[in-house]
Amino acid sequence: MRGCIKGSLWLSLSALLALFLSACAGAPVVAGEEGSKLRVVATTGPIGDAVRAVAGDAVALRVLLGPGIDPHTYVATESDIRAFQRADVIFYNGLHLEAQLERVLRQLGQRGVATVVAIGETLPAEKLLGWEAETGKTHDPHIWHDAQLWKEAVRTIRDTLIVADPAHAEGYRANASAYLAQLDALDAYIRDRAATLPPERRILVTAHDAFGYFGRAYGFEVEAIQGISSATEASAADIQALTSLVLERNVPAIFVETTIAPRTIEAVRAAVRAAGREVTLGGELYSDALGAPDGPTGTYLGMMRHNIDTIVAALGARAASPRTTVTDLAEKAGPYPILPYMARYVPVLEGRGEVATLRTPPLLPAAGARPVERRTGPLPRAAYDGSRRAVPSRHLPIAEV
Ligand SMILES: [Zn+2]
Repeated sequence: MRGCIKGSLWLSLSALLALFLSACAGAPVVAGEEGSKLRVVATTGPIGDAVRAVAGDAVALRVLLGPGIDPHTYVATESDIRAFQRADVIFYNGLHLEAQLERVLRQLGQRGVATVVAIGETLPAEKLLGWEAETGKTHDPHIWHDAQLWKEAVRTIRDTLIVADPAHAEGYRANASAYLAQLDALDAYIRDRAATLPPERRILVTAHDAFGYFGRAYGFEVEAIQGISSATEASAADIQALTSLVLERNVPAIFVETTIAPRTIEAVRAAVRAAGREVTLGGELYSDALGAPDGPTGTYLGMMRHNIDTIVAALGARAASPRTTVTDLAEKAGPYPILPYMARYVPVLEGRGEVATLRTPPLLPAAGARPVERRTGPLPRAAYDGSRRAVPSRHLPIAEV
């Protein structure tokens, strides 16, 4: 049945394409500034944003997939087909991301209607993750979630534009160079933020498996209810498997995505609750589309920052700097010694990510050292155990606790 639907869809797209090809054969050339610009069509938001960054106003750009649109299941409209037909250059992600557009786009490229570039397929195969799709072996298409890998895509866009429009080559080179530097800065930002989470908290549970490259680049284990394509249905067994994982690994938060209905993630949360535990919804991640064009997630850079900030906030809500040590704790304690009952909290703080590691040797006064003077005053919050008891006047070794 599914094959029949796909077949008829393909026939109608082919018919539309043929119609526009014949209708536009004698179409008048559009005059004016817009008409003289290179006409570029990009399928996804990240690709469109990269074209905008490299080309600026030098091209007339159309981006097909707006906020919340799932590229795995997106079907071309008549208006899209018209845009394809009029385009000089078409960029799409490829690797079976835009599954319903792929055949039309390949055919346009083969007919020489436009320069058609499947960006993911221009990247070195050894840098790609494997994927056994319904249609056969390919690679995971979610390449934009690794900022370093996405630089390769930006270079492909730059080089394609230079060949298609050599008059603006200098501008494309300069803009691309500036954008590549911004991607380096983004990459460093994501790494820094990820590093604030203890390794055992770096587990990212989402509805569909879009974060494989993100996980590989930034040190997260990724788990999803659905596979790499959202076109495959999630089964009750998939929900159960993820629920078991959340329970066994004590995962603090799971995430919904802007392009996927939240019901599967909510089903996992409900199943965890039925087992007598809680897992929070960590927020909304932009897996396969950018946010609203006028908002902070309307650009690739903003979307990526939003994702890592959301992930870190949810998985390490109380996490402080990973460089915090018992020594730092002692510094926070100011004039107060680290006492046994305070030290008892060190493992708790470690568990929350507020203290990274115990430093050896522990904070002991050297033999014969003068006892620390007794002082009064509030204890630092991190070490206060709520008992309001007086602070004893001598050090005890942490090892004794
Ligand atoms: Zn996806």
